[in-house]
Amino acid sequence: MTSEELFYSKKPAFDRVDFDQASDYAEGYKAFLDIGKTEREAVTAMVNLARNAGFFPYQRGMALQPGDRIYRVNREKGIALAVIGQKSLAEGIRLTAAHLDAPRIDIRTVPLYEQENMAYFKTHYYGGIKKYQWTTIPLELRGTVCVCRDGKMVKLRISIGAAPDDPKFVITDLLPHLASKQMQEKMADGIKAENMNILIGTKPSDSEKGCKDKVKLAVMEYLNHKYGMTEADFLSAELSCVPAFDACDIGFDRTMVGAYGHDDRVCSYPAATALFALQDVPENTAVCLLVDKEEIGSEGVTGMQSRFFDTFMADLCRTQDVYPEICYENSICLSTDVCNAYDPNYADVSESRNDARMGCGFAIMKYSGSRGKSGTSDASAEVMARVRLILDGANVAWQTAQLGRVDQGGGGTVAMYLANRNIDTVDAGVPVLSMHAPFEVISKIDLYSAYLGIQAFYQA
Ligand code: MN
Ligand code: MN
Repeated sequence: MTSEELFYSKKPAFDRVDFDQASDYAEGYKAFLDIGKTEREAVTAMVNLARNAGFFPYQRGMALQPGDRIYRVNREKGIALAVIGQKSLAEGIRLTAAHLDAPRIDIRTVPLYEQENMAYFKTHYYGGIKKYQWTTIPLELRGTVCVCRDGKMVKLRISIGAAPDDPKFVITDLLPHLASKQMQEKMADGIKAENMNILIGTKPSDSEKGCKDKVKLAVMEYLNHKYGMTEADFLSAELSCVPAFDACDIGFDRTMVGAYGHDDRVCSYPAATALFALQDVPENTAVCLLVDKEEIGSEGVTGMQSRFFDTFMADLCRTQDVYPEICYENSICLSTDVCNAYDPNYADVSESRNDARMGCGFAIMKYSGSRGKSGTSDASAEVMARVRLILDGANVAWQTAQLGRVDQGGGGTVAMYLANRNIDTVDAGVPVLSMHAPFEVISKIDLYSAYLGIQAFYQA
């Protein structure tokens, strides 16, 4: 055998992936990114895509036939989608699990105040961010407000900043001329969380002479006029500031996409659209699970640790008199989440043999975790072999991945929560540059390879 046959090497996959097809596919993905900047918006967008692909909402007790295309939404923030297979659920499912939440700047429950004739929202950042990256960029306000009036709740969806004429919002930073002290701080301390206040207005209201917070009053008058809100309604609101720029191509050759929220919509989108694209009825039931709260530990009713998934699966299994535990035992899952792409500018935290590289395909990660594989499910050799054979069998461009140098940091995914349910699970995803920044970068080749790989996985 030659060295090429004997050695494993990571190679750019431009010779194995049709770049025009990858680019076409990326257009749909970019549109999805721009409309779905919060998990609720992403779920709404997913429901629309699913309905167009012939999926219908599954109610408990409905009979199921092979080929049925169903979905169930979890509290507007997560969704499970399935194509019912020919075999019994006792033979297991082909499951993908990704997340729709992304790092962002959340608005607090008592957010509104005025200082020196300027009005602000107090915030609490969501997920692991480098705080300095979120100052001096245009921000949109998106979210849900449950206005309580006369004993009733009125639910409003807010989206300000996306339309061309919309105003935007911003967190200010210090001018360099006065920043000599700030510039000596550690990067982690340069921007303080309590200073990450969103600037929202400067015009005082003239409607009440005695009011000492006239700019705050003007903001409340505007929100009351437009949405019927009073200040107490912030308590029953989930408002977030997200970057106000749209997804775009990167590079002279347009081989990459820059956008907010690739982590983890760059896996959610191929996991769902590969399911939508299934033409024939698969042998095993194929399920795509898109969850919330991954960035803050997968907790809560909409996170991966919630029983939502088990309840959904139990409902499906009941139609076939199958125990969900037996279904799980025979299932296999791709925990589809992003990994770091090797960045030559920061080579000292990467490890060139094992870290994933831009443009080398769908990235398969045996384990994530940190400090001696803590917080990972660490897929078995047998399961890794199974995934390799599926991807090679379908001629999918894939590569290995890990999360940077050992003891440099690390991180986790939802993989361990699936594996804890007795489901064989492997991490697989798309490599990302500048992960968790307001503007992240991925390769179209990797995105499209993920789509093809996941499609092969559903059909395996
Ligand atoms: Mn992620
Ligand atoms: Mn993340």
